Parts: sequence; C-alpha cells; structure tokens
Amino acid sequence: MKVRFAPSPTGKLHVGNVITALRNWLFVRQHGGTFLLRIDDTDTARSTKAYEDGIRTDLTWLGLTWDEEARQSARFDVYDKARDRLIAAGLLYPCYETAEELDRKRKIALSRKLPPVYDRAALALTDAEKAAFEAEGRKPHWRFKLSGKRVAWKDLIRGEQTVDTASMSDPVLIREDGAYLYTLPSVVDDVDLGVTHVIRGEDHVTNTGAQAEIFEALTGGTRPEFGHFPLLVGADGETLSKRIGSLSVESLREQGVAPLAVLSLMARIGTSDPVEAVDNLDALVAGFDFGKIGRAPARFDPEDVRRLDAQLLQHADYAAIKPRLAALDCDLGEAFWLAVRGNLAKFDDVSLWARVVQGPIEPQIDEPDFIATALGLLPTGPYDETSWSSFTEAVKAATGAKGKGLFMPLRKALTGQEHGPEMKSLFMLIGPDRAAARLAGTTA
Ligand code: GLU
Repeated sequence: MKVRFAPSPTGKLHVGNVITALRNWLFVRQHGGTFLLRIDDTDTARSTKAYEDGIRTDLTWLGLTWDEEARQSARFDVYDKARDRLIAAGLLYPCYETAEELDRKRKIALSRKLPPVYDRAALALTDAEKAAFEAEGRKPHWRFKLSGKRVAWKDLIRGEQTVDTASMSDPVLIREDGAYLYTLPSVVDDVDLGVTHVIRGEDHVTNTGAQAEIFEALTGGTRPEFGHFPLLVGADGETLSKRIGSLSVESLREQGVAPLAVLSLMARIGTSDPVEAVDNLDALVAGFDFGKIGRAPARFDPEDVRRLDAQLLQHADYAAIKPRLAALDCDLGEAFWLAVRGNLAKFDDVSLWARVVQGPIEPQIDEPDFIATALGLLPTGPYDETSWSSFTEAVKAATGAKGKGLFMPLRKALTGQEHGPEMKSLFMLIGPDRAAARLAGTTA
C-alpha cells in the first residue's frame, strides 16, 4: 500500500492541507504502507524553495513522517514520454484557440443554454491549418480526448461514484508555453511510483473522472483506489481560502499550540467521532476509519484548536512538558507544573504563574488592616500541604472574615491576581519569605 501527500509549494501549508496529509498518513500507518511526500512543483514560476522547506518543517512539527519523497520538477522526462505515448495513441491533441476565443465559445454555448463544453474544433484541423497557426506564431496547448463515457468507481468515502465525461471539456494537459498542468504528471507519478490509494478533497472528484481515463490510457486498466472527503469550511460556512493566512500551520505553531491539538481536531472533524484531545498519534491511527467520515462540509473553527490545546495542557505530564517549560525558562519543577496546568488557556500563560511563584510581582492590597493582621499570623516555613489551611483558619478566627471575604484579599495580596491555581499549592511554592514581603506590600 502506498499513499501520497502532494502539496504544491506555492504557499504555506494550511489546515485544509493538514487534513489531507493526516487522512493519508493515518490510513497508511494503520495498514503498514508507504507515505510518499510528492512536491507538485510543475508550476516553476510560482513554486519556491522557501515554501517547499516550509512544507517539510510543518510536517515534521506535526509528526507526520514520510517514507519517500519525489519532486515533479525532476521528472519532466518521464512526463514527456507519457505525453508522446498519448499523442501517438491519438488521445492528446493540439489546440490553437486563444483564451478570448475560448471565452467567446463558452458565452455562445451558455446563451444557447448549452453546457459550456469545449467543442473539439481542433480535432478537425488539417495539417495545413495547423501549419498556418504556427506560422502566425501561435503555440498549441494540448487536450486529452475524453471517451464521452461514464467513469465509475467505488469511492472509499463517497461510495459508488460516476462522472459523465460527455459533460466535461477535454482537459488541457499542457499549456501553450509547454508547461504541464497538474493532471497528467499526477497520474504518471501515481502509476510510476506505485501509488495504490489516492485520498484527497472532493474538489478533485471531477478530476478523478478525467484522470481515470488517463490511467486507462497509460496502464490499460490499472488505477488506484480513490477516496474524496468533504472540504473544510469556516465556522460561518464560507470556504477557508479567504482567511488561509491565519490558518497556516506556521501561524498555529507560532501561537504556541501543540501539534496534537491540531491533529486531534483534524482527525475527527467532520466524522462521527467526538472531537476531543488525544495525546498520542497511535490512538488517532487506531481510531481512523473512512466509514466515519461524513458527507457534509466540515466546519473549522480556530477556537476548537485552542480548546483542545488547553485540554492537552491540563493533562500533560511533567516529563512530557519539561522541555517546553525549559524553553520558556519556566521549569520550576513538577509540583509547580501540577499546580498550574489546569489554569492554562494556552501554554505561554505558564510564564505568568512562574512569575507569581518566583516574583517579582506587585501585591494588590485593597484592605490594608486586614492584610496587616494576616501578616502577623503568617506561619514560618517551610510550608507543607497543611500550611495554607492553618494560616487561613488563623486569619478567619482573628478577623471573622470567611469565604470570598477571607480568600480574595489574601489571593490578591499574595499573587497580584484575582484568579488562578489553588492557593494551597501556590502558597507552598511562593514560600514564607516572599509571602511575608507581599503581605507587607512590597514588590517581591
Ligand atoms: N498538488 C495537487 C493539489 O494540491 C494534488 C492533488 C492530488 O492529491 O491529486 O491539489
């Protein structure tokens, strides 16, 4: 079994690409096959090395490892051979219409309420007419001659599918400037590199109709299995491409979210499984099933990534998180992590609590008399599990304050914050010296 993830290096990877990569990856890891990373860079004008490097960085960060790599721009000779075979078989023919001429034909067809399908006028050109176009300086583009029959396949996700090639224009495979469009190289590579399953978004269903016939022409009948899943849409139902910049993998990484927050969402979005934080890829592999993917567009909401990220943090072990704590200069030990992890909406929030524990922070004192009394009752260290309750019991007995009236002024004086982790834990971590200084109103 071999699958491929085939991004074009003409932009940054975004959440829509992630879902394609992940579904291929989960499927092939479940079955023990090969994951091919194919760089679709036939558009040499728009493809860049920087985008290509970005794709590798993003996949590596996500943990979506690949077993093999191919690059289309290194394979033009293979495509040329396929082109020549198709021309020899009479299945690839030169066309000389300009973009304006084609547009005019389309408009005429539409005004007659006919489908705007290419009329194949070029098939009737004589050699003399072609020579005349060439003499004018026109260069041909090349179209693949569809059979006009119905193409059928059993889609891994959509079930029985048919595409009526009679309702389609013969696809252009090669542009006037000789550049290959995506359609032919993709099929040639799938054949040549032994791809067994093509899993991609449903924007490619019509392509599959045409590509199935190209497979037929090149192999005499063998073609991969196909699976097409619904596209992602924004929370408001519009396509994601409009806001794609903010939904790039790079920007998610820069926001500090964990890769598994992204993958947990992408593995389950639009499926019958509940979306929940999963802290390892193996669990996602085990639960993957094409049968669970629904037919409706999947709604993507960036808030869901943040929610899952917070869920992952709330359950993260100290050992697993230690390197990230160290990178932020916030590794204050396991007790610290266990005390604060439940209060993090995002990982970077940990630096606030590291500062609360280590100082300096400015205490917030609204009731100086109350806090002065508390200072007089502050136990000497070292503090343990019981120190906070014995301290607050003593303050309560001396002042009569209870509930919020007791705890809020103490929390604000000791942490400078109105909310946060349990005071019992923070109190131990802050320790007697800093607690005394803060209750005395000093920045510490
Ligand atoms: N480079 C193509 C794309 O990004 C690949 C499509 C396919 O999976 O066949 O749309």
